[in-house]
Amino acid sequence: MTMMEEIVADPLPRRQTVGVDVGGVRVGGGAPVVVQSMTNTDTADIDATVAQVAQLARAGSEIVRITVDRPESAAAVPRIRERLDRLGESVPLVGDFHYIGHKLLADYPDCAAALAKYRINPGNVGFRDKKDRQFVEIVEMAIRHDKPVRIGVNWGSLDQELLTRLMDANNLLSTPRPARAVMREAIIQSALHSAALAEETGLPRDKIILSAKVSNVQDLIAVYRDLSRRTDHAIHLGLTEAGMGSKGIVASAAAMGILLQEGIGDTIRVSLTPEPGGDRTREVQVAQEILQTMGFRQFIPIVAACPGCGRTTSTLFQELAETIQSDIRASMPQWRERYPGVESLSVAVMGCIVNGPGESKHADIGISLPGTAEVPSAPVYIDGQKVATLRGPRIAEEFQIMVADYIERRFGRPAAAE
Ligand code: SF4
Repeated sequence: MTMMEEIVADPLPRRQTVGVDVGGVRVGGGAPVVVQSMTNTDTADIDATVAQVAQLARAGSEIVRITVDRPESAAAVPRIRERLDRLGESVPLVGDFHYIGHKLLADYPDCAAALAKYRINPGNVGFRDKKDRQFVEIVEMAIRHDKPVRIGVNWGSLDQELLTRLMDANNLLSTPRPARAVMREAIIQSALHSAALAEETGLPRDKIILSAKVSNVQDLIAVYRDLSRRTDHAIHLGLTEAGMGSKGIVASAAAMGILLQEGIGDTIRVSLTPEPGGDRTREVQVAQEILQTMGFRQFIPIVAACPGCGRTTSTLFQELAETIQSDIRASMPQWRERYPGVESLSVAVMGCIVNGPGESKHADIGISLPGTAEVPSAPVYIDGQKVATLRGPRIAEEFQIMVADYIERRFGRPAAAE
C-alpha cells in the first residue's frame, strides 16, 4: 500500500443490512440513508398534528413519527392519515408506543392499520412478567397488520432488570469491566434479545429495525459500532437528547458523522430541542445537511460562502449568501417538481479576490464581491468561465436573477413540442 492510499479517507462501504419497507420508503438493504423526524404536538390535536407532519414532510422528512400515548391519540391517528392523504402528503407515519401500546393497538385497529410502523421501547413496554408478554402482543399486532417495528432501546429507559443482572455478573469477574462498558452491553443485549423475541413470535427479519440511543457521543459511537457488528438488522441512528442549538447540532453531527463514515446507519433522526416557539423542521434540515455535506445524498443546492475577514468591506456578501440560501430553501418544494436535479447545484458567494475567483470557478455559478481597496466590481463565473462583471448598488439583485436564469436554463424541462 502506498502512502497516498493510506491517507485516502473515503467512507467505508455501507454495512449490509436487511432492507425494510416502511410505508413505501425503503430503509436499509443498500437504500440511501433515510431522513426522519418526530412531531411535538399532542397527537389528539388533529389540526396541529396534521399541520406539523405536513411541514416536516415538505421540509424533506421521509418518515414522521408521532406519539400514540392514550386512547384519544390512537383514535386521532386514522383521521390524521386521511387528512394528510387529502393534502397529497403520503409521508409514512410511525406510532411511538410506551407502556400501553399493546392495548391501544388492539383497541384501535384503524390506528394500527393507518400507521406504517410501530416503535417499541423494550424498556417501557411493561414491568416484570408483563414485559415480554406485552412486547409479544405488539409484535403480534404488527404481524396481523403486516407492519414493521422499530425496536428502539434508549438508555434513559433501559431495562433495569437486564442491567442489574449484567452488573451483578460483572462484579463476580476477577477483573470487572467498567460500569460504562456494562451499560453499553446492556443496551445492545436489550435490542438483540427483543429482536430475537420478535422473530420467535413470527415477525420476519425484513420487518425489524433496531436503534440503541444514548446521549453521549463516545458511548453512541461505541454502542452502534458493536451493535452493527453483531446484527444485520436495519439500523436507525440517532443521538438521543442531543440538546438545543449549536450543541445539539454539533453533537449529532460528530457522532453520526463518524458512524455514517464507517458505513453504519440506514436511517437517521436528529433529536434537537427546539427553541421556545422554534421551528421543528430544523431537525430535518440538520439531518439533510449532515448527509449532504458528507456526500451521501443531495437534497438542496449548496451555497459555499467564505467566512469574511478584515478584507471584507461590507456585510453585502453575508447578506447575499444568506438571501441566496434562504431563497433556495423556500423555493425547493416547487423546484423539486419544476427543476429535476436542481439539488446538485452549487453556488459560491465570496468576499474578495483572494479566494473568490477560485472558489467561484469550482461552483456552477459563483460571485466574487469586492474586498477592501479592490475595484468595486464583482466578477460572476458560470461553469468555470467568467461571464459578467457586476457593478453598482444592484449587485445582489442582479446576481439573484442570474442564479434564477441559470437554474431555468440548466434544470428546466424543455417546452413540450406543439
Ligand atoms: S475570500 Fe477574501 S474576504 Fe473571504 S475570507 Fe478569504 S480573504 Fe477574507
